[in-house]
Amino acid sequence: MVAASTVSAPRVVVVGGGVIGISCAYYLARGGARVVVLERERLGAGASWGNAGTATPGHPPLNRPGRVAQGIRQMLDPTSPLYVHPSWNPALWRWLIGFARYCTQEHVERAVGIMAPLGMQSLALFDQLIVEERIECEYRREGYYDVCATEAGLGEARHEASLIAPHGYKPETLDRDELVRREPALGPHAIGAVFHPEASSMDPARFLEQLARAAERRGVELREGVEVTSVLIEGGRATGVALAGGGIERADAVVLATGPLGLELARRLGTRIPVQPGKGYHRDIPIGPNGAPHLRIACVLNEASVFCLPMETVVRFAGTMEFSGANRVMRRPRLEQLTRAGRLYFPKIGTARPVSEWCGLRPMSVDGLPIVGPLPGVEGVSVATGHGMLGLTLAPVTGQMIANHVLATGKARLEGLSPGRFG
Ligand SMILES: Cc1cc2nc3c(=O)[nH]c(=O)nc-3n(C[C@H](O)[C@H](O)[C@H](O)COP(=O)(O)OP(=O)(O)OC[C@H]3O[C@@H](n4cnc5c(N)ncnc54)[C@H](O)[C@@H]3O)c2cc1C
Repeated sequence: MVAASTVSAPRVVVVGGGVIGISCAYYLARGGARVVVLERERLGAGASWGNAGTATPGHPPLNRPGRVAQGIRQMLDPTSPLYVHPSWNPALWRWLIGFARYCTQEHVERAVGIMAPLGMQSLALFDQLIVEERIECEYRREGYYDVCATEAGLGEARHEASLIAPHGYKPETLDRDELVRREPALGPHAIGAVFHPEASSMDPARFLEQLARAAERRGVELREGVEVTSVLIEGGRATGVALAGGGIERADAVVLATGPLGLELARRLGTRIPVQPGKGYHRDIPIGPNGAPHLRIACVLNEASVFCLPMETVVRFAGTMEFSGANRVMRRPRLEQLTRAGRLYFPKIGTARPVSEWCGLRPMSVDGLPIVGPLPGVEGVSVATGHGMLGLTLAPVTGQMIANHVLATGKARLEGLSPGRFG
């Protein structure tokens, strides 16, 4: 929260120009703050530009009973969606051990109890943003199919659906006939699906870009190519940030929205943020006779963990989870896997060249929940990271929570998300 003595329009520095940082900036400005966003590369340089563009609220975290055994099996299978690069990375191994500790049924139920209502709030905020700010990003509120190829996959999809149903979600199980009636491009591999009607989809790059413009219209200053090296603390509270190259940016409050990187900024203030970069890829295949079929709505290929997002002229295939450190090295076999999985479920995909190939680093928290709220031990520093596979989904509600907390304008509802929860 900003100091009580602060004049009516506090100055807030947001570090990081991904979808989380821009959402925080937008809602802070909407709440009356003077905001500057400092981004060390360019807006969307992290995971926010090329993701699968689907707001999929309510889903349980990756930490689930049985996940460790499944993970070990997948690590031994080069065609699986999971890849852990064999190298000595103590932070990663500490994180993996911590992750395993949260793979309990009790944790899943607690996490769904937190995430399901947040997801609903975020969807409502998306609907509001799209209309009020006239954001044109191919936004479609038409749901998505969780398409399964095995009885085991369908069983798991139905179990997940049963967890979110008590929170107001209305998932619907579809048998193969009904699924193919609705999505004729699917081949014989698909045996059924769960349809999630609440979800929405969009072009994530256009959403980010236009939300940034909306923030600018509300007075937010966006500065690219500016790296923050530390948070300045005087008398136990934040007074600004230091910049690479020597400058200083003064502020009444600082929000760290640096995705999976830049976490040393919090560590130097005494709080360890247990987040690892989880690399994912996309491949955009042009729609056409020799390319991708025209899908009606988004779908996830359950067993392959690949999202398929129909966009204006392409279908985006996005997924895979690679733990190989903080780098953007593109591994060709991981990209090939996206097309291979796509062809299994959609046999008519042709050989047209992809028009875009990309990778980005998801901020994977150790317990699968976002890390949002004030840093313990110092005044005026907040964190918003750790959204993993749901950063786009939860961006609006995260921005609103941070603004409510920083400006003390409403109930921040940060229970269970605190950066101090890891001890
Ligand atoms: C393949 C793939 C598919 C995905 N699909 C979906 C999906 O369908 N739906 C969904 O909800 N989510 C999805 N995600 C996850 C989503 O993309 C991320 O959770 C989200 O983008 C995280 O946003 P962020 O703003 O926290 O981080 P980022 O986008 O990484 O932004 C952080 C920014 O901070 C900057 N930064 C870091 N350190 C500093 C510093 N010291 N000074 C200044 N700037 C700094 C970085 O340059 C970066 O631009 C997907 C991710 C991937 C990889």
